[in-house]
Amino acid sequence: MQRIFKEKMGAMDRMERKPADPGRLDSGASVFARLMLVVSVIAGLAHLGFIGLFLRVQVPALALANVASVLVYVLTAILIRRGRLTLATLLIVLEVLLHGVVATAIIGWAAGFHHYLLLVIPVVIVSAYYRYSLRFILACAVALLYLGLDLVYREATPAVAVPAPLIDGLHYINLATVLLMLGVLATVYQRLVSRAEQSLHELACTDPLTQLRNRRFMMEVAQHEAAVVERGGRPLSLLLGDIDHFKRINDQHGHAVGDGALRAIAQVLRDGVREVDHVARWGGEEFLVLLPGTELDEAQQVADRLRRAVLALVEVEGRRQLGLSITLGLAELRPGESIEQALMRADRALYEGKQAGRNRVVLAGQA
Ligand code: GH3
Ligand code: MG
Ligand code: MG
Repeated sequence: MQRIFKEKMGAMDRMERKPADPGRLDSGASVFARLMLVVSVIAGLAHLGFIGLFLRVQVPALALANVASVLVYVLTAILIRRGRLTLATLLIVLEVLLHGVVATAIIGWAAGFHHYLLLVIPVVIVSAYYRYSLRFILACAVALLYLGLDLVYREATPAVAVPAPLIDGLHYINLATVLLMLGVLATVYQRLVSRAEQSLHELACTDPLTQLRNRRFMMEVAQHEAAVVERGGRPLSLLLGDIDHFKRINDQHGHAVGDGALRAIAQVLRDGVREVDHVARWGGEEFLVLLPGTELDEAQQVADRLRRAVLALVEVEGRRQLGLSITLGLAELRPGESIEQALMRADRALYEGKQAGRNRVVLAGQA
């Protein structure tokens, strides 16, 4: 539990330094495109090797088939780089199927070219470009083709006689290549899944407008920090800030400028604290800052610095003199006190600050 939390915190720290930008996260399609590119390069090189081999053992039909395959893989690499992934995937699948069938028909089942057909099944299933039912039907069709080849060619005499040692060699080369490709496929798929998980987690913990931590995640962080305090570790101070007269900003300048002001203040808060501190959007125009290892005196200085930094924000998205200010309630978590209780004290202090005229920092009382 503790380890999982630390991993989450680590991920969030990385994210805070570089705000989450969904457009920059690797999408499933881009990972799949890279997978297809790797497949094209490996397969192209393997086929290039086979051209020389089959010319030496005088099986020109297979040498020719490999020339065609190399050309197909050059074409698929170009298509992938140009973003034509669907067409490239289709070509790769057709090449693998056709090549497997032709090679098995010419030099027999024992050379192991049929193994490549098995690779098509996971590729078809993982590909994101067809409806699932179609992917399922294609995978079944490949499986049936494989069984059909087994039935026809396993016991059949090959069309071209090739020396037995070469057949053995081909068998192992093909088997090793297929196993390597399976490893690559599994690795890339695993990365795809873990990246998807990570971006979902980031989305679930992030406020989309300000890119700060959201309330749900901040509560987890707060509970964790409270547990550290409880174990006699470092102290913890919390600042609850609320933008002053924010409704007025929206009313006078429009909601879009209001959003800009929220983003700008979020940035000021993030820039105004240490990396170990946590900043979250707690509600509409409310922010919570957690200062681990910080006692009340020092936290008061931090709070006042943040207050002055917000006041100094003269320009937001091209608009000058919005007159932004923030009121902050400040509390230090006391031994035996729950986070909720400390938050309630900070909230009461914040309310007092509003009553007293806003744009100020108020220390929470004892009760
Ligand atoms: P006070 O100084 O007492 O806090 O006054 P206030 O106007 O800031 O407080 P009030 O609670 O009356 O209004 C908060 C405003 O914040 C109203 C709401 O529309 C605005 N707000 C909340 N979330 C957002 C948001 O995501 N974007 C924008 N533009 N405005 C928001
Ligand atoms: Mg408010
Ligand atoms: Mg307000």
